[in-house]
Amino acid sequence: MSRIKLMPETLASQVAAGEVVERPASVVKELVENSIDAGACHIEVRVQRGGISLIRVIDDGCGMDRDDALLSLERHATSKIASIDDLAAISTLGFRGEALPSIASVSRFRLTTREHDAIAGTEILVNGGRIDTVRDGGEAPGTQIEVRSLFFNVPARRKFLRSETTEARNVEHQFHLQALAHPEIAFTLVRDDKPVGQLPKSTSLRDRIRDLYGAQLLHDLLELTALERAGVRISGYIGRAGVSRQTRAQQFAFVNGRAIESPMVTAALREGYHTALMRGQYPITFLFIEIDPCEVDVNVHPAKREVRFRDAGKVREAVVAAVQRTLASAREDWQQKFAPAATASSSPPVQNEPRTLPVIPSEAERSQGSYLSALPQDSSAVLGMTEKAPKREKARSTENEQPAFQIIGVLNRLYVLMENAEGLVLVDQHAAHERVLFEQLRRRMEEQGVPAQRMLLPQIFSLPPRDAEWVERNVATLQKMGIGVEPFGPNSFRIESLPAFLEVSDAAAFLREIIDELKSTARSTSPLRLGEDMIAKTVCRHAVKANDELNNPEVEKLIRDLLACDLPYCCPHGRPTMIQISLAELEKKFGRKV
Ligand code: ADP
Ligand code: MG
Repeated sequence: MSRIKLMPETLASQVAAGEVVERPASVVKELVENSIDAGACHIEVRVQRGGISLIRVIDDGCGMDRDDALLSLERHATSKIASIDDLAAISTLGFRGEALPSIASVSRFRLTTREHDAIAGTEILVNGGRIDTVRDGGEAPGTQIEVRSLFFNVPARRKFLRSETTEARNVEHQFHLQALAHPEIAFTLVRDDKPVGQLPKSTSLRDRIRDLYGAQLLHDLLELTALERAGVRISGYIGRAGVSRQTRAQQFAFVNGRAIESPMVTAALREGYHTALMRGQYPITFLFIEIDPCEVDVNVHPAKREVRFRDAGKVREAVVAAVQRTLASAREDWQQKFAPAATASSSPPVQNEPRTLPVIPSEAERSQGSYLSALPQDSSAVLGMTEKAPKREKARSTENEQPAFQIIGVLNRLYVLMENAEGLVLVDQHAAHERVLFEQLRRRMEEQGVPAQRMLLPQIFSLPPRDAEWVERNVATLQKMGIGVEPFGPNSFRIESLPAFLEVSDAAAFLREIIDELKSTARSTSPLRLGEDMIAKTVCRHAVKANDELNNPEVEKLIRDLLACDLPYCCPHGRPTMIQISLAELEKKFGRKV
């Protein structure tokens, strides 16, 4: 007896729905994508009880005639691709012809649609995949889809739904994704009859971000320095250094207008931020990648969340470069804040000479922990340097201009208070010194490689075969990082030298750690980057501490050194070094201005 049977169409749709429709948010995604593909100018999303009892999406797009409306509910029916060649270069959000039949098979579904020049529209009612009614409908031109009682006929699926609040939050996130990708479309979100998002059609992403998240967030963002490299265009906004979140909730990435989830892009963003991001934190990004559609495969996952790039390395490099450039350019903002009085606009008189502090540290205090006297010696000891660190070669517009500020004092032996043209600046002296040391060490590493220090007693250690093989292959790279190892019998090595700036008590343990880290990071992690990580970890120990009392010239030197850094505004661990409080903010606080 034959056991194989063709599935009835409805069952096949319900099975397929398992992949496309996971929760109310996926329904919203598919329906809104269809509206966008239909050229809508305004899209309204309404949900009741987190979308579990009702989802309604209304658009003013092209609409469908009766034949198309019926066809749209058939599986594999689409107006978006016709041949395999089309699949190679998708420019619409949909293309699989699965969403409508899938959704209709697991809900009570109503479609009304009307073309703009048609006298009458069409209304179709579907119940768990079965078409119940087809009749004339009198709605406005465009398409309206109503999805009630999601998964009413798939109890197994319904059980996996979360609370209404959680589902509503997922819907909202999805709504944000679509709205960010299309600022030129007006969007409305109504939740349980209350409007929760009203986004007018806007001309720019900037306006859309402001309408969604408020002006304060915009203040924390930097516009990505537009970058086009090997056919990859990067644009959008990213959080300033030191601005981050504990979750990835505000890390948005789009490829050709499609929101994507990509570990590669996440890693590239991280790499771009590097020392400007705190450990365990996530950057805020509105990253837009534009690339020839034939260079990216969007047909990886039925929900079209993932994409595959033909040349992932190229995309990765473009993202890293765009983020790095943007963060580096932000230093100009800070330089502006310290522009000399002559060029600053409405500035109070600011002296270049530091003012003598009323309280001068005692001789004893000075000899204990002096930045001026201790830093050069300390850092040369740390660096193993004999000569002075070479001067920066990079030309800077403000090279000759001394930053203008006036030190007011030091609060709690940690926060330097100063006045600049804009108002009050607070500097964390420890974080500031970390940044200065970090950049000195890095520059030296770039120019001369990591200085190595021979070990008095070379240490022998063994590794599991795969790690041993890895070390053998990377002896030269390790050498550049100041780690001298030599094979010493099968799966054994001898450590001859280590980076001079490191204080390592257990060389073998240190090396195992480095190997793990190197192996787990991306292929292209350069020895330089790893060296940077090592430096970032160690500078903390050498930087002036919170309680070290600095005298006035020391503080001033520290600030000047800081302002000359590439990323002066955050320490190598991504924490801010400076906080500006403007006079306007103070006036507001004191009620002088409303
Ligand atoms: P796909 O989007 O992959 O083509 P769908 O099942 O989502 O598949 O939709 C099937 C077809 O129905 C689409 O190709 C499109 O022609 C039509 N369609 C769906 N939604 C709309 C809409 N809101 N406005 C106009 N046409 C629509
Ligand atoms: Mg679709």
